[in-house]
Amino acid sequence: MIVLKFGGTSVGDAARVREAAAIAAAQLAPRVVVVSAVGGVTNLLLDAARAAATGQSDRVRDATAAIRDRHLGVANGIADPAERAGALAELDQLHAALDDALAEVAAEGALSDRCSDRIVATGEKAMSVLFAATLRANGSPAVHVFADRVVATDGRFGSARPDRARTRAQAAAVVQPLLDAGLTVVATGFIGGAPDGGTTTLGRGGSDYSATLLGAALDAAEVQIWTDVPGVLSADPRQVADARVVPQISYDEAQELAHFGAKVLHPRTIRPAVARDIPVRILSTFAPDEPGTLVTRAAVGSDLKAVTALQGLILLTIDVPELEDLAGAAAAVFRALHEDGVEIAFAAQASSRRRMTFLIDTITGGCRHLCERLETSLVDFEAGVGCTEDVALVAAVGEGGAAQPSALARLLGVLNKANVPVLAASQQTSNVALVAAVPAAEAARAVLAMHDAFIKSLPTTARGRRPRRAELLAESLRVG
Ligand code: ASP
Ligand code: MG
Repeated sequence: MIVLKFGGTSVGDAARVREAAAIAAAQLAPRVVVVSAVGGVTNLLLDAARAAATGQSDRVRDATAAIRDRHLGVANGIADPAERAGALAELDQLHAALDDALAEVAAEGALSDRCSDRIVATGEKAMSVLFAATLRANGSPAVHVFADRVVATDGRFGSARPDRARTRAQAAAVVQPLLDAGLTVVATGFIGGAPDGGTTTLGRGGSDYSATLLGAALDAAEVQIWTDVPGVLSADPRQVADARVVPQISYDEAQELAHFGAKVLHPRTIRPAVARDIPVRILSTFAPDEPGTLVTRAAVGSDLKAVTALQGLILLTIDVPELEDLAGAAAAVFRALHEDGVEIAFAAQASSRRRMTFLIDTITGGCRHLCERLETSLVDFEAGVGCTEDVALVAAVGEGGAAQPSALARLLGVLNKANVPVLAASQQTSNVALVAAVPAAEAARAVLAMHDAFIKSLPTTARGRRPRRAELLAESLRVG
């Protein structure tokens, strides 16, 4: 069986839902379709919930009216009258339950994470009803399933963690018999069920995660993420006009790209697929015949595949006078950063062995706060702390390419020729990425030069297809 997931833009209105349903119906059965809410509806639901908690009844009314409109717009696009009537009746129930939940929040005067999840789940639930009805109206037997009965999670409302073993058991009990009966199962993305039966959510943008979780639970042959971009791109198209679709990347490459700031699959999304070795394909609903990007365990080729820039970092250097203090000082730095919840993007030790270099997320208070904090932690070592703000990390990702012995020299050569000063650089020991820290203001130029040197020069087959203008537009309009 396969899993197909459609995001909010791909189910943004009646016409888009019909197109998505046609894409799903054209795939080999058995299939599970995972849907997001209509684009924008999740934000409206959250807005309504917050307004209810703060007693802003006008805002609640506006938001719920907009939500109804969006849903009715899709329902009214269902061609078959009986299916349309059935969907409208189910929507009525969901909207009534939403009004009840909002009234409870208003009476309470506060919004708990539990209530918030119950409320936002309405968006995905409505879409599962609408999508299944659209499939049936087009002659494809289908049924919707609310995933709070299938995807088992813990009780952390708002960002619940899945329980894979229980999810597998529930998928076998709830979903498999429906597939065996020849039905397309349309499941809600984003939501799960807590041990006490409450509806949870997996965090914003969680529907991709739902797709790989269900794929893993049902031993899918493939998970397809249908979205508004034509696949993983070799660079951000807003920075690099020549950005193109990368035909195939490995799980490791995808995770490195996400880590270094590319908007691809979130690492947590890939994890269930990695665990069961399930290929993930990223495809565009705007260009359904294009091959997109295939993400698998194996790395292909010996080229660098994509370049990225991670902005908003701080470069931290620690100089330790006594060589034998180095490990102790490193431990103190890591402990302090960990205690403050600071993410480390990069860490290196210079060849003199007495200087350590870190790239970390920008923190409130910036360098002043950081220096004070670390000088206290490092007082026993008489260490010098240096700190620079407004630093970016540029990366070139590709297992074969980054592993070549001369790769880092090439990267430095390219940056040197483009007059981009390099603050620190490394060929990751993972051999998946080459990285360099550069001043934030130079990052765009660095990325362009790297893309020109490493990717534009590749033969067309290896470098993939150039996306169409409309697709680039879709990408540039996409919000985090
Ligand atoms: N509808 C949810 C959100 O907007 C989940 C998703 O789209 O993946 O965050
Ligand atoms: Mg969304």
